[in-house]
Amino acid sequence: MEKIHHLIDGKSVEATSGRTSPVFNPATGEQTGELGLASVDDVNSAVAIAKKAQAEWRNMSVAKRIAPMFEFRALLAANADEVAKRLTAEHGKVLSDAAGEVARGLENIEYACGITEHLKGEYTENASTGVDVYSVRQPLGVVAGITPFNFPAMVPLWTIPNAIATGNSYILKPSERDPSAPMFIAELFHEAGFPDGLLNVVNGDKVAVDALLEHPDVKAISFVGSTPIAKYIYATGAANGKRVQALGGAKNHMIVLPDADIGLAADAAVSAAYGSAGERCMAISVLVVVGDIADPLVAAIAERTKKLIIGDGTDSTSEMGPIITGEARDRIASYIGAGADAGAKIVIDGRTDTFDNNGSFIGCSLIDNVTTDMSVYTDEIFGPVLCVVRVDSYEEGVQLIADCPYGNGAAIFTRDGGAARDFQDRCDAGMVGINVPIPVPVGYHSFGGWGDSLFGDTAMYGPEGIKFFTRPKVLTSRWPDPATSSVDLGFPTNA
Ligand code: NAD
Repeated sequence: MEKIHHLIDGKSVEATSGRTSPVFNPATGEQTGELGLASVDDVNSAVAIAKKAQAEWRNMSVAKRIAPMFEFRALLAANADEVAKRLTAEHGKVLSDAAGEVARGLENIEYACGITEHLKGEYTENASTGVDVYSVRQPLGVVAGITPFNFPAMVPLWTIPNAIATGNSYILKPSERDPSAPMFIAELFHEAGFPDGLLNVVNGDKVAVDALLEHPDVKAISFVGSTPIAKYIYATGAANGKRVQALGGAKNHMIVLPDADIGLAADAAVSAAYGSAGERCMAISVLVVVGDIADPLVAAIAERTKKLIIGDGTDSTSEMGPIITGEARDRIASYIGAGADAGAKIVIDGRTDTFDNNGSFIGCSLIDNVTTDMSVYTDEIFGPVLCVVRVDSYEEGVQLIADCPYGNGAAIFTRDGGAARDFQDRCDAGMVGINVPIPVPVGYHSFGGWGDSLFGDTAMYGPEGIKFFTRPKVLTSRWPDPATSSVDLGFPTNA
C-alpha cells in the first residue's frame, strides 16, 4: 500500500502527527493508500519555508517567473493520461471525464502564462500639473488553497497558476480522499523549474486547515467545498484578518420551456445530472419543466437514463463510475427514500441497481413531482439524482431559482431568444447557461456562484483570480523644480 506524505520545500516529508487516513479505490472498495495527516508543526514549517521562498520569488522578473509556467503547462499536457489515471483510481470518475478535468485545469495555466498582460498596471500622465499617477498590483505573500474531493486536479489548478504567477507562494491542502493527483501535479510543478518551497502540499484534515486559518503569515485562503465548511472558513479566515474566497455547494436548476427541443433538452439533462455520478458542483440536480412538455420530456430522460452504463471508471465502456465512499452512497440512497416517503414519484430508482463488486456504486435516479418542501429539493445530494419540479409558467421557474439559497449555476433550454435574454438578466445565479447545461466559464473568465455558493467578494481564476492574489498600490509622483516650492496647507487639488 502506498504511503502518501507531504511535499514541502520540493521534498517528500513525512507527517509528524502519527495520524493517518486511508485512501480507497471507490470502484473496488480496496484501500490503496495511507495518507499522513499534518500536525500544526507540519503546517508551521511549510508556511516558514513558503515565506522564505516568496521573498525571493516576488523580486524575480516577470519573465523569469513565467518561463517555468510554460514548461509546467507542457509537462502537465504530456502527463495528462497519468493524472487522469490517478483521478479515476481514487475518485472513481470515468477516465474520459478525468481527462476533461485535466484539460480544464490546463486552461488556468495557459491564462497565467499571459500574466505579463495582466500585470501591466495603469498610468495617468499629468493627472495634476506635473504629477503622474500609476497603479500596480503586488503579491500578498503566502497564500493557501483548501480543495474538495470532486475535482482533485482541476480545483487546485483554479488558483495555483495565478497565485504563483503574480508573485505569491502557495500551500495546498488537498482533499484527504484523493490526494495522489494533486501530489503528482505538484511534482510536475517542481520538474518544470519553479524554485523549491514555492508550492508546498500539506496533507491533512481539520487540524491542518485550522492551522492555516490561524497562521499570521498566511495572507489569503482559497477554499472550495461544501457550504457549511465554506461558511466556517470564510468567518474564521476573515476573523484572522485574511482575504478569503470560499466556494460552497450548489443546487443547480435547468428550466425547460415548452418550445424547447425535447431530445436536445433530455440529452443535456442526462449528461449534466449523471456525469461524474452527479458529484459536480455544476451538476444539474433540479429540472424545472414548464407546462405540458413535462410528460414527454420525463419519458425521454428516463429512456436515456436506463441505457447508461455504470461501472469501474477504468473500463472504457463505463459512462458513470462509483460514488466517492460507501457512506456518501448510503446518504444518497436515504434521500431517494425520503423523496418517496414525501410523495414524489420515483421514475427510476438507482437503489435497485446491483453491482458485482465491493465498490460504492449506486444507479441513477429520476424523481418526478418533486415539491420545494422535500429534502430531495432543498438539500445538496451530490449524487446521480435528478429531481423534476413541474411548474405552470416561466415566471414560477425564475422565482424558484431566486428562492433557492444557492446560486452557483442555472440553465435555460428554449428556442425563444427573448425568453433566454430575460433569463440571463433576471436569473439569480453566478453562472448561467443558455442551451448549455453546465456553464463552467473558460479559463479567461472567472468561476463563482452567488448566495450560499460563494462567500467572499472574488470569484476564482481568470481576471478575478488575479485580483484576489494581488493588492493594489497607487503611486503619485512629481519632480518639481525646488525653486517653485512653497508651504501650502490647503488640501491638494488636481489643477
Ligand atoms: P468538504 O467541505 O467536505 O471538504 C472540502 C475541504 O475542506 C477538504 O479539503 C476537507 O479536508 C476540508 N474540511 C472538511 N471538513 C472540515 C472542517 N470541519 N474544518 C476544516 N476543514 C474541513 O467538501 P467535499 O465533500 O470534499 O466536496 C464536495 C463539496 O464541494 C460539495 O458540496 C460541492 O458542491 C462543493 N464544491 C463546490 C464547488 C464550487 O465551485 N462552488 C466546486 C467543487 C465542489
